[in-house]
Amino acid sequence: SSELATRTVSLIPGDGIGPEVTDSVRAVIEALDVGIEWEVVEAGEKVIEKEGTPLPEYVLESIRRNKVALKGPLTTPVGTGFRSVNVALRKELDLYANIRPSQSLPGIDLPYKDIDIIVFRENTEDLYAGVEHMVGRNAAESIKVITREGCERICRMAFEQSVAMGRRRITVVHKANIMKFTDGMFRDIFYEISRDYENRFEEIDDRIVDNMAMQLVIRPNEYDVLVCPNLYGDILSDLCAGLVGGLGVAPGANVGDGIALFEPVHGSAPKYAGQNRANPLATLLSAKNMLIYMGLQEDAERMQRAINEALASEKTRTRDLGGTAGTKEFTQAIIDNLR
Ligand code: NAD
Repeated sequence: SSELATRTVSLIPGDGIGPEVTDSVRAVIEALDVGIEWEVVEAGEKVIEKEGTPLPEYVLESIRRNKVALKGPLTTPVGTGFRSVNVALRKELDLYANIRPSQSLPGIDLPYKDIDIIVFRENTEDLYAGVEHMVGRNAAESIKVITREGCERICRMAFEQSVAMGRRRITVVHKANIMKFTDGMFRDIFYEISRDYENRFEEIDDRIVDNMAMQLVIRPNEYDVLVCPNLYGDILSDLCAGLVGGLGVAPGANVGDGIALFEPVHGSAPKYAGQNRANPLATLLSAKNMLIYMGLQEDAERMQRAINEALASEKTRTRDLGGTAGTKEFTQAIIDNLR
C-alpha cells in the first residue's frame, strides 16, 4: 500500500512484442516516480532451452513472494508438449478471477462512445477445465464442472470490488434456462450473495448469454459490471474489447486472494517483434489498474491523463489506432505529458 516507500513487483517481460511493451511500462512508471521496484523474472520461449520448461519455479516463487506481478504476453510453444504458460500460471497461483475492463478512450474513432464495462470472468472451472473424451468413435463429450465454492468466490469478489469502485449496476450472465444445474447454480449463488449488497447498487439483475451478446451490441452504455462463468466471460469480454478498440487497448488482470497478475489480453504478435510497431497501451492500462490495486489511485489517474493526451494526437498515437507513432514515440509522449 501507499504508506510503504517502495514496493517490489514481479515483472515477466514475455515473448515477441512483450519486452517492448513492458519496457514502455517501465519507462512510464519510472517517470511517475511511485517507488515501484521491478523484480525481472524471465519465462516463456526464451528460457525453455536453459531451464527445460517455459515456466520455471523461480517465476512462481517471485510472484508468491511479491503478491503483485505484471506480465507481457507469452508464446505458447506448439508441438513441444508444454501446456500454456498462461493457463499454468492461473492454476498454480489460483488466480480465480479474470477481470477485464473496457472503457472508451479519446482519439479512437469508433461507432460506440462512453463505454465503461467491467467483466468478472470465473477463471478456473466450466468447460475450460478441458475434461473431454471420445465416447466410442462417433461422439465426444466435454464435462462442465461448476462448484459452489467456485461460484461464491468470483461473485463475492465482483460485488466487493464493484462496491469499492462505486459501480451502479451488476449483471450475472448465464444460460440457466437450458443448463439448469450448472448455470442455474451460478445464477442462484450470485443472487444469494447479492443480499449482502442490496442497497449498494441501482440494479442487480441477470441476462441470458445470447440476449446479453445482442444487448452489448445494441445498447452497451446501459451495462456496467458483468459477472460470468468462464466460457461466456471469455467470449463477452472480447466483444467488449471490440467496442472500445480491440486487442491493442484491452487490459486484463488475473486475481486470487491477496495475489494479482496484470497482463494485456493480446498475445506476443511475433510478426511485430523488435520493430517498434507494437501498441503498448493494453500493457500500460494493465499497469495503471495495478497501481489502483496497490492503493495508488492518484498516480493511476495521473497516468491515465498523460495517456489520454498522447492518444489525442495522430502524431503520438500508434499505427493500429490510426496514428503514425511507434512504440517508443507513443511512450515518450506519455512521459513528456507527465512532466
Ligand atoms: P496476438 O494477440 O499475438 O495477435 C493477434 C493480432 O493482433 C495480430 O495481427 C497482431 O499483430 C495484432 N496485435 C496484437 N497485439 C498487438 C499490439 N499490442 N499492437 C499492435 N498489434 C497487435 O494473437 P495470436 O497471433 O493468436 O497469438 C500469438 C502468440 O501469443 C501465440 O503463441 C499465443 O499462444 C500467444 N498468446 C499469449 C497470450 C498471453 O500471454 N496472455 C494471449 C493470447 C495469445
